[in-house]
Amino acid sequence: MNIFKEVKERITARQVAERYGLKVSRNGMACCPFHNDKHPSMKIEQNYYCFACGAKGDAVNYVAVLFGLSPFEAAKKINEDFSLDIPIGQTEVRRKQKSEIKKKEKAPTKEERIQFVQKKIDGWAKEAADVLLRYLRWMEFWKEFYKPESMETEWHPLFAEALQNESKISYLVDILMFGTSEEILDFSRTEGRR
Ligand SMILES: [Zn+2]
Repeated sequence: MNIFKEVKERITARQVAERYGLKVSRNGMACCPFHNDKHPSMKIEQNYYCFACGAKGDAVNYVAVLFGLSPFEAAKKINEDFSLDIPIGQTEVRRKQKSEIKKKEKAPTKEERIQFVQKKIDGWAKEAADVLLRYLRWMEFWKEFYKPESMETEWHPLFAEALQNESKISYLVDILMFGTSEEILDFSRTEGRR
C-alpha cells in the first residue's frame, strides 16, 4: 500500500491542521493559513478548501504547503508526528536488498531483461500520465465552472469530484513522471486495476 493512501485513510486534513496550530470551529470552518484571512473562509474536514484564495488539498498536501515539504516528506512527517507506524524506510531497504540479490544471480541477461521491462514501463507510464493529465485539466475546469456561489450552496458533484480527486491524481502523475520504475510498477499493481 502506498504511503499517501495510507496516511490519508487514517488522518484528515482537519486533524493535521489542528495539530499544527489551526483553530477549527465545530462546523469545520477556519481562518485560512495560506492567505491573510480575517474571517474564516476555509472549510476543513477530510480535505480543505479556501473559498477566498482557492487553496485546497488533503492532509498530506496541507502539511507539504505549511512546512514547505515535498508530498513524500509531508507524508513521512505525519507518519512520525501521529505515530502511525507506517513502515516506509523498511520497505525501501527490503526492496533494495531484493534487487541486489537478483543482480548477483545472473548478471548480464538480467540487465538486458531489466532494460526491456524498463522500456515497457516507461511507455506505459507516459501513456497513463497523459490520460491523468487530461483528467486533471478537466478537474481544473470543473473547479472554476461549478464553483459554489457561497459556503451555503450545495456543491455540484463535479466540483466535489475535482476537490476530492485532484491531489490524488497529481500524486499519481508525479509518480508516473518522476518515480523509479519500481514505484511505477507498484502503482500499476494497486491503482491501475481500478
Ligand atoms: Zn485562503
